[in-house]
Amino acid sequence: MTPTRATKPERGRGALGPALELVHTGRAPTRAVLTAELGVTRATAGAVAAELEALGLITVDSRPTAAGSQGRPSHRLSVNPDGPVVLAAQVHADGFRAALVGLGGRIVATEPGRLTVEADPAQVLAEVVGVGARLLRETGRRCLGAGLSVPSAVAEPEGTALNPLHLPWPPGVPVREIFTRCLAEAGIPGPSGDAPMVGHAANDINLVALAEHRHGAGRGARDLLCVATAHRGVGGALVLDGRLHTGSSGLALEVGHLTVDPNGRSCHCGGRGCLDVETDPLAFLEAAGREPGPETGMLRRALDLLRTEYAADPAVRDAAHLLTDRLGLGLAGLVNILDPDRIILGGLHGALLEVDAERLHAVMEERSLWGRSGTVPVLACALEHNSLVGAAELAWQPVLDDPMAALGS
Ligand SMILES: [Zn+2]
Repeated sequence: MTPTRATKPERGRGALGPALELVHTGRAPTRAVLTAELGVTRATAGAVAAELEALGLITVDSRPTAAGSQGRPSHRLSVNPDGPVVLAAQVHADGFRAALVGLGGRIVATEPGRLTVEADPAQVLAEVVGVGARLLRETGRRCLGAGLSVPSAVAEPEGTALNPLHLPWPPGVPVREIFTRCLAEAGIPGPSGDAPMVGHAANDINLVALAEHRHGAGRGARDLLCVATAHRGVGGALVLDGRLHTGSSGLALEVGHLTVDPNGRSCHCGGRGCLDVETDPLAFLEAAGREPGPETGMLRRALDLLRTEYAADPAVRDAAHLLTDRLGLGLAGLVNILDPDRIILGGLHGALLEVDAERLHAVMEERSLWGRSGTVPVLACALEHNSLVGAAELAWQPVLDDPMAALGS
């Protein structure tokens, strides 16, 4: 068949997703910026914005406001604060949390679940979905998708949690399938009402990176590297051109197993001195001569110790320096391989950056090719509940790809 030129409505429809993503990520606060970003005429941008408003996704404030000292006043665009939501769920070593998240990464309602995670994944996911279903009933919001964050590598295309870390779950749990079944059992229909809701699931650090890229410290970066700790271990993720780089089977960026001390602690991967065991909260608490205590809450105890005792206690300062040096070594290696234009650090690593950014940059510079990693901007993660917001991003993705199809219009 000879390709024909797209008709006007088809062209307009093709611009809906990119336009929605621009408003969703705060990059198109006005219709003038939207017009410029999309590279279309003012009339097309106006029609696209009106269509997204008619779908209930954004609001267009037609009272012109000055957009700055240059240019004409323009209509103001924002996500609809009363619009549809997605259900986001997070399971971690301390328990679980459910949230309803609107466009723009706005948490509309959230509630933590119990503080222990049972050995049966189906029971845990049924409980977290149950909390989400109740929040949906209470708020009366329309739900367009569902996403789940798990502390495990998630193998694609099966959606199985290969190595649930610090959860009493067996390896290889089909989390996406179980999550989707729980959504059906909780009576949460798909966005068009007649098909069932399909759940999405991904690794928590990947979701941190995705959320921070769209709404937080990673906004505007092209090649964003994220390295973060939870209570135990270190994870990494890479966002390239706005999309997570997950590798051929979902398992890319296992940065935790870079060697940063050849004579260091033995690691569960079979190696020794990995970033995973040399720069996590357990390593910090032990280096500072503190009793690490139970795993639950270990991150919180490490953060509290660093923030309250760093200035006063030389042992805490020495421990922070030791971990910063090792983290810098690992980051320098990653910069040599990946060449990111920004690095964001989460958990204990974000806090180490805040107490001594200069030291971290110095180590990175000394240990990288041409000293260039000393010049890569390094920021601490900025969002609260970032892996939960990232789980919501997974669920929003089909809507961002094709709003009309996702809404069944
Ligand atoms: Zn290892």
